[in-house]
Amino acid sequence: MSDFHTLSLSDLAGLLQAGEVSSQQLTEYFLARIKQYDDQLNSFITVAEQQAMQAAEAADVRLKNGHTDALCGVPFAHKDIFCSEGLRTSCGSKMLDNFISPYDATVVHQLKQAGAVMLGKTNMDEFAMGSSNETSYYGVVRNPWNLDCVPGGSSGGSAASVAARIIPAATGTDTGGSIRQPAALCGITGIKPTYGTVSRYGMIAFASSLDQAGPMAQSAEDCALLLNVMTGFDEKDSTSLERDKEDYTHALNLPLRGLRIGLPKEFFAEGMNVAVDAVIQQALQQYKAMGAELVDIELPNSHLSVPVYYVVAPAECSANLSRFDGVRYGYRCEHPENLTDLYERSRGEGFGAEVKRRIMVGTYALSAGYYDAYYLKAQQLRHLISDDFKQAFETVDVIMGPTTPGTAFRIGEKSDDPISMYLSDIYTIAVNLAGLPGMSIPAGFANNMPVGLQIIGNYFDESRLLNVAHQYQQGTDWHMRIPKGFE
Ligand code: GLN
Repeated sequence: MSDFHTLSLSDLAGLLQAGEVSSQQLTEYFLARIKQYDDQLNSFITVAEQQAMQAAEAADVRLKNGHTDALCGVPFAHKDIFCSEGLRTSCGSKMLDNFISPYDATVVHQLKQAGAVMLGKTNMDEFAMGSSNETSYYGVVRNPWNLDCVPGGSSGGSAASVAARIIPAATGTDTGGSIRQPAALCGITGIKPTYGTVSRYGMIAFASSLDQAGPMAQSAEDCALLLNVMTGFDEKDSTSLERDKEDYTHALNLPLRGLRIGLPKEFFAEGMNVAVDAVIQQALQQYKAMGAELVDIELPNSHLSVPVYYVVAPAECSANLSRFDGVRYGYRCEHPENLTDLYERSRGEGFGAEVKRRIMVGTYALSAGYYDAYYLKAQQLRHLISDDFKQAFETVDVIMGPTTPGTAFRIGEKSDDPISMYLSDIYTIAVNLAGLPGMSIPAGFANNMPVGLQIIGNYFDESRLLNVAHQYQQGTDWHMRIPKGFE
């Protein structure tokens, strides 16, 4: 068989369990696809061929011995924000270009334990700051649906590689939309779980009160399988939540009759891209046909989410990134004259422009005299944004709308205009500020580019989100489309 790339992660897992293919065969197959196609996309920073082949060999032994972990032997990739032992973990930055992690992030450890085979580390915006994957030290990632367009960010390498089927699934992280936004722009499925559900240990911190990891794959079913492995309490992460393990596949097949879908008027406001709106409306009609009820709701403070985020996230990043000082690990400038020179030049030379912009904004917002006016105020407004959702979930089960205001834009189009770039996350950011789960699923095309439908749920309602997405994917094939040239 020579078209494994057209199969979903769940299908591949099935073949492995049935002994119809070996993990080594699949690993070779997808490594070959990376070799053949990644020059066009630049979606990988590191390909870990040797480690992958060893892991595949070990997985085959486990499978032969009757090991039934669903992901055993399945190839996938990690966003290069997760520390992986013995491998470069760059976070898309020159600062960490020489950093070989001495340990595994919890997420990396969990997937290893499950027998999944990591083929490499995917490209990303520098320190996950960006909406287009143009800020990476390793260069721009291209969207497989149109190589002149961005894949979205910051998990752009993960999204582009899954969309082009050079890998069946990948991990991502989402601080303000970085799983959902690139998933939408590349036409794949991605879910950001409730804050605290997936361990942040070993995941390089951007904004700690917002960062959350999640899976990116072809379908909701694939995401459920990955989430089963990625979630769980971790004593090494102080914000990890102690909850019973959940099987995220258990609700996939429930019917949607009676589901109440909230449509925030703010998400369908004037100025919304007409072609994107048409796709979303069609998806909503399909939900109606499945027995769901559409309910108009309001999220009156949602217009505050971008300004609030761009105080909170830079503030937290300025603190988190202070550890990169040229002393302990990472980039160090040459021939420092004294300690101050070492700090200044190491950081000045090691960080890119967007990261510096965030550090400056954040340091300013936290400084004495401005703390109350900016940071404290932003935290207060964050409560109002969360309260809007709390009220909405008293009358609806899920909230839907577009994931992004438009389809993938051209490379370079917004890179000189940070404000317009920041606005591309206008529908995703509030979800992080509230700590809620949110996902994006492919819902069609506008101007030949994919459109994502966003589904937002109440705390810990991941199973319901996956159910709502899976039912839609049973009746549509948008998630199965493969971009031209990558078939
Ligand atoms: N685009 C947003 C930012 O630049 C969100 C990034 C993310 O979720 N990591 O901060």
